[in-house]
Amino acid sequence: MSTYYQPPKYPASTFESMTPSDETLPVVVVGAGPVGMATALGLAQRGIPVTVIEAADQVSFGSRAICISRHSLEAAGRLGFGEQLEKIVLPWVGGRSYYRDEQVLHFEMPLRDFDVRPPMINVSQSEFEQIMVDTLEQNPLITLYWQTSIAGILRGDDEVTLEVDTADGKRHLRARYVVAADGGRSRMRELAGLRLQGTSYEGRYVIADIHWESDLPAERMVWFDPPSNPGSTIIMHKQPGNIWRIDYQLDPSEDAEIETQEDAIRARITKHLDWLQNDLPWTLEWKGFYSARALALDEFTHDRLLFAGDAAHLVPIFGVRGLNSGMEDAETLAWQLAAVIHGNATRPCCRHTPPSATMRGSRTSPTPASPRSS
Ligand SMILES: Cc1cc2nc3c(=O)[nH]c(=O)nc-3n(C[C@H](O)[C@H](O)[C@H](O)COP(=O)(O)OP(=O)(O)OC[C@H]3O[C@@H](n4cnc5c(N)ncnc54)[C@H](O)[C@@H]3O)c2cc1C
Repeated sequence: MSTYYQPPKYPASTFESMTPSDETLPVVVVGAGPVGMATALGLAQRGIPVTVIEAADQVSFGSRAICISRHSLEAAGRLGFGEQLEKIVLPWVGGRSYYRDEQVLHFEMPLRDFDVRPPMINVSQSEFEQIMVDTLEQNPLITLYWQTSIAGILRGDDEVTLEVDTADGKRHLRARYVVAADGGRSRMRELAGLRLQGTSYEGRYVIADIHWESDLPAERMVWFDPPSNPGSTIIMHKQPGNIWRIDYQLDPSEDAEIETQEDAIRARITKHLDWLQNDLPWTLEWKGFYSARALALDEFTHDRLLFAGDAAHLVPIFGVRGLNSGMEDAETLAWQLAAVIHGNATRPCCRHTPPSATMRGSRTSPTPASPRSS
């Protein structure tokens, strides 16, 4: 039976606009992805009220990050959801790389007697995020609004007013600071008139999650130019519940539209599993497509708007970056912003909007969707 994780759905949140008489302004976090939620937990831990707005009605579904580093596990522990998380994960310590059918590398990451946590674990980003949502919901300093998306920003000297779209129409939220953690296609970036700079790579990958009760070990396995798929690179990872993540590279001559059809993906995976001498049944649970980018904003701090995670920088996922580097952003941002709010540090400044040029009362109009810079 399939064990593929289906996150629960949440109804649209209803709330009224904040008024000028609201004295205690929260930090507003735009985006309840892992980075936005980790930032919210870190700020709340330091006594700061946080409102998180999330456009979707559930956490992410399907295969995104699956490899979580020891450092992110430590962060999860500090932020109050490590114990729950560690109950459901699959630890691993090493991997193998093959060129054609020959093993060319076997590596093991350090796991010493005094290490409390494994160097790496696998779990779906979906479940990782759901545990974070459950933790947020128990925190009296955090309010999470579902199906609420950012529509406009009005920057002032001492606060920021956000226009948000809700199921009941437009609402306004006031914030001391705004953390833009709304992901790679960040609307916040567009509203602030910012663009990512960097490189998009040619490599295109099909990503699939399959349910397969194989007893192969939970190692990172990579094949370069394997006999099953000559010219391609194939990466396999075991996740909890006998879900296997398979990433394979498309040849530049292949048509992505055809190659991402279910039949084409099944044929390609069958070839590889047959070559591994598999005789067990498997089912395709999820499929996706990925191409690598290395893009970043010149500055992450724009007066009272602070960019974090994929909204601030996109990195190729190979090397388990993305969620893991975003957790580092979140922890750093939370303690530094808390220090500013508590008066223990000076306000972050930036090149693009120096304090003298803050747009008091001027709306950064919701710009038309520009072609994605990513
Ligand atoms: C196929 C794939 C595999 C990956 N594998 C790995 C891996 O193994 N390890 C790793 O560390 N990383 C990996 N990553 C990268 C990782 O998924 C991202 O880096 C990570 O999700 C970034 O988190 P985030 O919170 O910054 O953004 P996101 O996770 O994208 O979250 C942004 C949130 O903002 C919400 N949002 C968007 N627009 C609005 C709006 N207008 N208003 C309000 N809310 C909004 C979105 O609904 C979403 O919930 C992978 C990514 C992909 C695509």
